[in-house]
Amino acid sequence: MKPLILIIEDEHAQAQILQYNLEAEGYRVKHAPTADEGLLLIQEYSPNLILLDWMLPDMSGIEVCRQIKVNPETKTIPVIMLTARGTEDDKVRGLGVGADDYVVKPHSIKELIARIKANLRKVGIGNTELSYAGIEMNTETYRVRRDGENIKLGPTEFRLLKTFLGRPQKVWSRTQLLDHVWGADIYVDERTVDVHIGRLRKSLNRGKRRNLIRTIRSAGYALDQDD
Ligand code: CA
Repeated sequence: MKPLILIIEDEHAQAQILQYNLEAEGYRVKHAPTADEGLLLIQEYSPNLILLDWMLPDMSGIEVCRQIKVNPETKTIPVIMLTARGTEDDKVRGLGVGADDYVVKPHSIKELIARIKANLRKVGIGNTELSYAGIEMNTETYRVRRDGENIKLGPTEFRLLKTFLGRPQKVWSRTQLLDHVWGADIYVDERTVDVHIGRLRKSLNRGKRRNLIRTIRSAGYALDQDD
């Protein structure tokens, strides 16, 4: 699945230009014109990266960023702050509440996309090598290993594991997994997720290896070595 970027920006024209350019670059995009809606969409879609405007009508971007970064569920999502201000003071405040990067408007789309790519790489997206707890994946050769041994996976199990490896320990709801692995436009029953999780576990745990995919009751699944 293509990475999903959430734009939280109240200026409609700005948001449209961004959305157009990001989609042309191959990203999926959601847009929220207010902080409230942005926070809702974060819960609903668990985006891979957030572009956050500093000045929003209902809440400051700084406060939105703080809320994203204090929540264990969302704190690992990279946040790039977009602002018309450019003083050192603002920059320090933005980074102080955990923003991962900072772009001053007007910015070139080229520069912004370079920053997006760099921030996605930090969380393993766009990297060809992903690893966690003895599991290694190469997204170009489609090789998967556990403790050095090759593991064969079906295409859906591969995408599931890739999603988990992008954000280890994050609890993914079934809806979020459907969106990231199958795509939001395809109708798939939530039980299908359970079936493919079962297959992924079976392949990963072959040879009586320890199970690393936790089931969190009524919440979803996580790739997590700490029980
Ligand atoms: Ca604004």
